[in-house]
Amino acid sequence: MATQEETFKKIVAHCKEYGFVFPSSEIYDGLGAVYDYGQNGVELKNNIKRYWWDAMTLLHENIVGIDAAIFMHPTTWKASGHVDAFNDPLIDNRDSKKRYRADVLIEEQLAKIEDKMQKEVDKARKRFGESFDEAMFRQTNPRVLEHQAKWDALHERYSKAMNAMDLDELKQIILDEEIVCPISGTRNWTDVRQFNLMFSTEMGSTADGAMKIYLRPETAQGIFVNFLNVQKTGRMKVPFGIAQIGKAFRNEIVARQFVFRMREFEQMEMQFFVRPGEELKWFEHWKQFRLRWHKALGLGDEKYRFHDHEKLAHYANAATDIEFLMPFGFKEVEGIHSRTNFDLSQHAKYSGKKIEYFDPELNESYTPFVIETSIGVDRMFLSVMCSSYKEEQLEGGDTRVVLNLPPVLAPVKCCVMPLVKKDGLPEKAREIMDMLKFDFHTQYDEKDSIGKRYRRQDAIGTPFCITVDHDTLNDNCVTVRYRDTMTQDRVAISELHSLIQKAVDPKVLYKKIVEG
Ligand code: ATP
Repeated sequence: MATQEETFKKIVAHCKEYGFVFPSSEIYDGLGAVYDYGQNGVELKNNIKRYWWDAMTLLHENIVGIDAAIFMHPTTWKASGHVDAFNDPLIDNRDSKKRYRADVLIEEQLAKIEDKMQKEVDKARKRFGESFDEAMFRQTNPRVLEHQAKWDALHERYSKAMNAMDLDELKQIILDEEIVCPISGTRNWTDVRQFNLMFSTEMGSTADGAMKIYLRPETAQGIFVNFLNVQKTGRMKVPFGIAQIGKAFRNEIVARQFVFRMREFEQMEMQFFVRPGEELKWFEHWKQFRLRWHKALGLGDEKYRFHDHEKLAHYANAATDIEFLMPFGFKEVEGIHSRTNFDLSQHAKYSGKKIEYFDPELNESYTPFVIETSIGVDRMFLSVMCSSYKEEQLEGGDTRVVLNLPPVLAPVKCCVMPLVKKDGLPEKAREIMDMLKFDFHTQYDEKDSIGKRYRRQDAIGTPFCITVDHDTLNDNCVTVRYRDTMTQDRVAISELHSLIQKAVDPKVLYKKIVEG
């Protein structure tokens, strides 16, 4: 059995080998934590974006989209708090010269304690079998209780230090916990310092007084500054939402784990504006809606969990993450935040403009409160890839690598293959392809044996292979081979469209989301 780490390495290699993700500017040895999506990656990514966008804008008549610019007036980032407070605590190891996030080092220490508890639980489950009561075991087993007490103490100390951004205390925790650098193995740490994550550049030439501007670290502010524009021109009534998909940039201190933590990435954000006092009800609503969106894809319900925030940003009154089980543990894929009226109030203050909504039902004006759902396209891409990648042992000792992608997200929906390159089969195959290509992303492949062609499509997650043989010319039927089961059916050409459509139709998922 491959370890999780080995599996992850294989997924990264697979992404490159099959045109999903390449390191950026690879011929120059790449650029740290920046990646390019290849011919299959971009299709998968676009399908993810389409699934999100339509779930927001088609399923909600009170949500509309925008596409704001990446560059924004620099005062935006003063008002939002990013200039002063978008910092991570960093620490260096003097021996390895490697840089880490102090909070991540401590969180990894907490995760190690959790692992120890889990191991005890797993051992006991094996021993007791069917009759095992996990909750009872966790409450009574002395070794688990000892670990739990350690975890609680560390967690409390850590939360306090983070809430107060007490950098000395963060360092002291690292020393007291005897956390070592994974590279050098030493505890020779520098002090903890704050590091601002925004990239900046200059707009205009220096001669006429260039202005320092930032590459946006989140897309949300483009929505806040356009609140009035959209509300007025769209005649939107609270509650309503504005959705956006776009690039964001963060100068991450530690960029690891492939597209999980990038310096240039893409976000899908939706800001939902509500009446003051109703925000927690809407927060709960959006938590559930967003989880249903994830689960409808069928990647496995057990792979998701909510992680409520201990440390709330000063303007938030509730926050949770949707975490997904990656090969390197449960990790945040999406954040759902109740941001009060902080952002709109700040922009009103810094711009001197009145940013309010007149509520005709209440006959009063107020600054709406905001619930935000914010998901990274790339992290979503990674969770889809990680849960779809399978190495299967086949009968006869053969193995195959297959991506069991949700068909709605698959980059290629079907591949048409003439059994041989003669006897009119290629022409017939082209005819079928022409029939399907306007509705489904379709490939044509006539090279190598049918078995090899199937494997190529398995590796990129194509749900259907359609083989044209000599009988096709007489009976107008083809062999359809299904990716997941590898079973085959004889199907009339006239049935192909509806067969594929049924499998890749996002409507089925949207219904699942809406009906709960
Ligand atoms: P983390 O704690 O992992 O740094 P965050 O809490 O700072 O993430 P948010 O600011 O809430 O993240 O951003 C919303 C979403 O944007 C995240 O849930 C994630 O999917 C995505 N995201 C944030 N930073 C990155 C990054 N560096 N690379 C890829 N995706 C990112």
